[in-house]
Amino acid sequence: MDHGSDAKNPDYEAIIIGAGVCGIYQLHRLLDLGVSTTVLEAGADLGGTWFWNRYPGARFDSESITYGYSFSRELLQEWDWKERFSGQPENLRYLNVVAEKFDLRKHMQFNCNVESAHFDDDATLWRLHLEDGRDLTCRFLIPAIGLLSAPTLPRYEGLDSFAGQSFHTYNWPQEPVDFAGKRVAVIGTGATGVQVIGAIADQVGDLTVFQRRPNWCAPLHNAEISAEEMAEIKTRYDEIFAICARTPGGFIHEPDRRPFFEVPREERVAMWEKLYGEPGFGIWLANFRDIFMDEEANAEFSEFIADKIRSRVDDPALAEKLIPKDHGFGVQRVPMETRYYEAYNRDNVHLVDLQETPIERITTNGIRTTEREHEFDIIVYATGFDAITGAYDRIDIRGVGGQSLRDKWADGPRTFLGLQVSGFPNMIMPTGPQSGSASTNFPRGIEIGVDWATDLLQYMWAHDYVREEATPEAEAEWGAHVAKLYGIMLMRKAQGWFTGYNSNVEGHEQGTIRYLVYNGGTPKFRARITEVADTDYAGIEFA
Ligand code: NAP
Repeated sequence: MDHGSDAKNPDYEAIIIGAGVCGIYQLHRLLDLGVSTTVLEAGADLGGTWFWNRYPGARFDSESITYGYSFSRELLQEWDWKERFSGQPENLRYLNVVAEKFDLRKHMQFNCNVESAHFDDDATLWRLHLEDGRDLTCRFLIPAIGLLSAPTLPRYEGLDSFAGQSFHTYNWPQEPVDFAGKRVAVIGTGATGVQVIGAIADQVGDLTVFQRRPNWCAPLHNAEISAEEMAEIKTRYDEIFAICARTPGGFIHEPDRRPFFEVPREERVAMWEKLYGEPGFGIWLANFRDIFMDEEANAEFSEFIADKIRSRVDDPALAEKLIPKDHGFGVQRVPMETRYYEAYNRDNVHLVDLQETPIERITTNGIRTTEREHEFDIIVYATGFDAITGAYDRIDIRGVGGQSLRDKWADGPRTFLGLQVSGFPNMIMPTGPQSGSASTNFPRGIEIGVDWATDLLQYMWAHDYVREEATPEAEAEWGAHVAKLYGIMLMRKAQGWFTGYNSNVEGHEQGTIRYLVYNGGTPKFRARITEVADTDYAGIEFA
């Protein structure tokens, strides 16, 4: 490719980074409009989250029937979900079918790591440098780089000295891992660890779980979807997506808005029993709204769940270790589980409580805690992600005057609507930090973000604009709004990725809260960004 491209003639009008759920839909929208575009994907193939996370038990906690793209009726009618909560292989197959159907693959470039993206203000274009040595230019940069795509390993000494197999769940090997008879360690008990543990407990020789802080988990209740059920679901897609559109999380679960303490206790408990026995996030998201904001309400409900854990784990002392004491139910992301608590009733499953015996280092043979060395054949790091901003930090993105995005966001992201960054013209983030998609059923959130991004581009082309940039004032106002919403949520006190906590990333260890997600819910987010679009993009300046 000729790299002498100039302002009038960039290599592409738009470059999308990432061929996951978001990048795929964004590409489809742009191709439909005849825009010159390409997708640069770091992985060896498309799929994003569903390409990378191949660990046993990986599946969504969103109802499958709410997870597919809603933009094509034909696609909805053609695709049959096989399980209520579909697993990774099937999800990856779905995304491949979508790419095939809309002929997207030929516009994607794989194994393309974008090292840097610098805005050239004189030429009004973005200059990208790739790891393979190439330079590319585009007018518009569209990062579709995911929310949980920058995996983080613990900062223990000796990680490389381990003689057995070890990997982060995100970088799970492409070929199946043979667990039979093996001594396996899992470090981490977030949504990922909980899925892995439930899935492999009866496959391994011996499993030791290294838990630093327990999470509040609830049963997923997965099941197959019969052909008859699927046929019936296909008649209801309009209704299903209409429900998702009006709920805060973009799920089919609607919160109970009655004041917690005005509902008699027996009625509250009866409702919780029902929700605990039902599939999916209902126990979290169809619960009383008050549990997210009122300490007393949250404590009462948390005790209900604590009793459920006690009833499922045979050893009472072990059950207590699995019950969180530092935060209430639902203020961190609730892991949905399948036979997770029952796994601890097996003779071959052991828990090491890292609050009692912290890990000192990884050794050639395994893991040494302050108590002793544990020997393993396989170590699984289910230790999470540098969430939401991590993927941005890993690219050297520079805006006007060479300002680095990493520096700008050093204390937490600053955005307008989670879609724009002041000082970074012509960069549109369909799922950026502080956008609605960060805290919702992802496909529902990204469709809103991608449609808004595409509308903005069409508006610019219609007006012959070549440059757009959010104003600092609009950005400050949005930042204050996002921060204010955190202020009313108990979440602000928790140490989870919603607040940007990660012990494995320098500067993210604890203390200062990072306002990473928008907590106002999908309907309010959609209303606000639509209002901006309808008022000739108030808050954005064009040239
Ligand atoms: P996570 O929720 O951040 O959990 C990471 C776990 O690793 C925590 O238990 C953490 O303990 C532990 N940990 C981290 N560093 C450690 C260290 N140095 N030593 C010991 N323990 C350490 O990450 P995740 O489980 O990968 O989940 C991230 C998000 O991905 C989820 O919240 C969810 O949004 C998404 N996800 C979705 C699904 C689904 O849809 N079904 C499945 C999996 C993941 P602390 O709590 O003490 O920090």
